[in-house]
Amino acid sequence: MGDRRAIFITGGGSGIGRAVAVYFGQRGWFVGLGDIDKAGMRETEEMIANGFVYSHPLDVRDRSAWDEALDAFCVAAGGRIDVLFNNAGVPLGGSLTENSAEEIERTLDINLKGVLFGAQAAYPYLKQTAPGSCLLNTASAAGLYGTPGASVYSATKFGVRAVTESLDGEWAVDGINVRSLMPSFIDTPLLDHNPNARSNEDIRQRVTGAGLEITPVADVAAAAWAAIHGDKLHTVVGKTAKTLAFGARWLPGRV
Ligand code: NAD
Repeated sequence: MGDRRAIFITGGGSGIGRAVAVYFGQRGWFVGLGDIDKAGMRETEEMIANGFVYSHPLDVRDRSAWDEALDAFCVAAGGRIDVLFNNAGVPLGGSLTENSAEEIERTLDINLKGVLFGAQAAYPYLKQTAPGSCLLNTASAAGLYGTPGASVYSATKFGVRAVTESLDGEWAVDGINVRSLMPSFIDTPLLDHNPNARSNEDIRQRVTGAGLEITPVADVAAAAWAAIHGDKLHTVVGKTAKTLAFGARWLPGRV
């Protein structure tokens, strides 16, 4: 087994996944990227540029693709995977009564089923590098509080939180830690594509107008580092409010 610790990151071609990839790469880790966005992964690779980075196209909804990606990454990384960062996710806003069946299924599949599949596929590797190995999942502040105007997204993130708490107990016997990040509003492309916003400026104004803030993505990378090295089950990043109160502001026509 190689000396360099290894982290595999889904959604590593953009936003939070990219920031975490660069952060861990700068600290001597072997970084694996899994994403449907090949161009995005190439850009992340260029930002690391030390040779200890490996990309594998991955759709987190595809269970057998998970095995292929992790097998290949483990070989590239010298026979070890210490952390799976289950981070890929998509937003879905709008009233539930307006969301199509396809939108609901896609969001559940990527945000929740993808996390479960990743955990299943990573388990044997994490068991091998335990103690000290970790499954880190990106949930959301929408996994802490119900979110009017984004009930499907919020349901997936409550689900991710449940997976974290359940597996942390289940895998304790193997010495594997399971943790989650609960970001609030983070400065990434996802924020700008928020379907509840009329424009980038609109979403930024509404966040700050509600007394909240948009957190730099580098803060999430530092929080991911702290999360895998610490005992805290859930790490909140950025300012949150009970989105039950806040969420109503997001509904079209109610601003
Ligand atoms: P982003 O859009 O910048 O990055 C998401 C990445 O996931 C993209 O590279 C995309 O190609 C990839 N992806 C999408 N579907 C995929 C699939 N089926 N298989 C593999 N990869 C796929 O968004 P981000 O802000 O970096 O979001 C990362 C995570 O953080 C998500 O789970 C999101 O829900 C969560 N989050 C973001 C915020 C925020 O404000 N940005 C807040 C809370 C939680």
